[in-house]
Amino acid sequence: MTKVGFIGLGIMGRPMAINLINAGHEVTAFDVFPAAIQPVVDAGGSAASSCAEVASKSDIVVTMVQDGPQAEAAIAGEGGALEGASPGDLIIDMSSIAPGVSQRIGEACEKAGVGFIDAPVSGGEPFAISGDLAIMVGGKADLFERAKPLFDIVGKSSVLCGDVGAGNVTKLANQIVVGANIHGLAEALALATKAGVNPETVFNAIKGGLAGSNVMNAKGPMMFERNFTAGFRIELHQKDINNAMETARDLGIPLPVTANLQQVLTSLVEKGYGKEDHSGILHFVEENAGIEVKKF
Ligand code: NAD
Repeated sequence: MTKVGFIGLGIMGRPMAINLINAGHEVTAFDVFPAAIQPVVDAGGSAASSCAEVASKSDIVVTMVQDGPQAEAAIAGEGGALEGASPGDLIIDMSSIAPGVSQRIGEACEKAGVGFIDAPVSGGEPFAISGDLAIMVGGKADLFERAKPLFDIVGKSSVLCGDVGAGNVTKLANQIVVGANIHGLAEALALATKAGVNPETVFNAIKGGLAGSNVMNAKGPMMFERNFTAGFRIELHQKDINNAMETARDLGIPLPVTANLQQVLTSLVEKGYGKEDHSGILHFVEENAGIEVKKF
């Protein structure tokens, strides 16, 4: 049994913390939004009143917050985990953030003698609840091995991708592939609809061929059934693609498909679609084409 601290108890963090409790770990939890802590206390965890207090009561601290600024505040900011951590502790940031920010947090941890790995996830709320997340890890191999028993509880796979930041590079790669696929799928179903061919039929005809994918299977039916309930919110995908473009700029690499995706997601957020599932990229295509995709 490990003393685990958990910071950030939102859509993803709450079920992950509860899975750690159910597996027998002693979990101390904190969220800046106090109501988020109660479900974790109800499941058998203890509440703390700051990130520093979480760290002072734990050997391993997991953070699962929205983006880089929140992760930096929770770990290296005033009252952050590093203020309560002891040398030899381990901090695992499982949020999806820019790799450069992970590296900055890693350096602050190293100065304090605290281990750090970045370990963003794929799979969304359903896999967070079932403990089946795919985990992409950056950091030293010995720290990865130390974290592995926890990863085996919250996830079904964990892969060490390289040094600190490599987990988030991998997550950005994942988000580019997923976003570009959804945009292509939306254009394909719009074309079919405009040509008078049932988009559901097109989906069924092509899903077993080279075009088929997990993305198509998950998002195609949401499009032609017009169910845009998140799922993975457009505003979170926008955040990831902004981080991808920031990273591409720092590295000096052109990514035109990703740059276009950034424009599409920005347009959708500005039009008020940010809380919808990212299958709602379809709205962008539909509004340009003046059609509505629907099975018939
Ligand atoms: P969320 O907004 O539901 O939860 C984040 C929580 O962190 C909130 O409860 C917030 O109050 C808390 N928080 C923020 N700053 C804090 C601080 N300094 N101290 C303590 N608590 C703090 O977000 P989420 O959907 O759980 O996503 C978390 C991360 O996981 C994001 O980086 C997201 O991109 C990633 N992710 C989400 C999904 C998904 O489907 N929701 C899937 C894969 C990855």
